[in-house]
Amino acid sequence: MLKLFFKKANAFSLIQKRFPLDYIIPVYHSVADSYLPHLKHIINYKSSLEFEKDLDYMSTRFNFVDVQTFIKNHDKKINKPYALLTFDDGYNEFRDVVVPILLRKGIYAINYINPAFIKNDDMMFRLKVSLIIERILNKDFMTPDSLQKSLMLSNNASKKDLITKVKAISYTSRHLLNQISIDINLSFDDYLKNNKIYLNIDDLQYIQDKGFGISAHSWDHPYLPELSINDQIKNIQRSIDFMEENGFSTESMAFPFTDFGLKRSMFNTLFEDNRNLKFTLGTAGLKFDSVDKNLQRVPMENGFSAADEINFESNYFHLKKIFNKNKITRR
Ligand SMILES: [Zn+2]
Repeated sequence: MLKLFFKKANAFSLIQKRFPLDYIIPVYHSVADSYLPHLKHIINYKSSLEFEKDLDYMSTRFNFVDVQTFIKNHDKKINKPYALLTFDDGYNEFRDVVVPILLRKGIYAINYINPAFIKNDDMMFRLKVSLIIERILNKDFMTPDSLQKSLMLSNNASKKDLITKVKAISYTSRHLLNQISIDINLSFDDYLKNNKIYLNIDDLQYIQDKGFGISAHSWDHPYLPELSINDQIKNIQRSIDFMEENGFSTESMAFPFTDFGLKRSMFNTLFEDNRNLKFTLGTAGLKFDSVDKNLQRVPMENGFSAADEINFESNYFHLKKIFNKNKITRR
């Protein structure tokens, strides 16, 4: 009986040690040692020390490669699976914090960016959400009546109610965020003037010259399931065209937010219209996808170390496999 127990425990630990896929694609947004109000309430970004620890752990289990090598060999069975390090949204810290670390460690990364924001004259709507929350959380914050009205809340709504409502504002109703900013006397333009949020075109060029990748992440980071298939394609295509026109990479693109619910016909059109496009990326963790050119990434900003995140995802994959839930089916 005891023997059987150990056998089972041993088998389980063996399963734990084996990584279930032939590759891993971790995704980060930013790495910063400073407090970033525009990201703090929407992204659990890591410090440079935490990020370095992640890289050191991943280097023991995976072989970091550039996008070309990844495209050629990612599905080959090898002892040390490939890792393609990815960043999304083109935040400014990539140049000042991330690139120096990666250069020192000799690790490649590719950043999927939104061309709409590289002039730093606007920001993705979720960043506005973060700035509004930052303001609401301020201990001196007094809720103006107009804010409760904009959020369709009754008078004397709690800060928690306000934050829940603000967090729920979607891409298609993002104009509401500008109204709220007026209610609470917050100027996004002033914030943009005083804080460089995004990599600009010179930064992108510098980063590419240093050997890193820059590629498409849609034009302005919409929540794609809210758009018609036609508008999904238009928004994505505009960002791929920007990469083409400016000499950046067009071999891969990453979907903003989530690829959940995206239809097979959308993928078909995207790959037919862009012959150079080799793969697209989602962020559903370790999963297969019925669109075999759509690869899923592992989000690394859930408040866990890479070691814990990867071990959890790995075990969870094996569990999902038992219930046939480790593959996304698209129609
Ligand atoms: Zn993004």
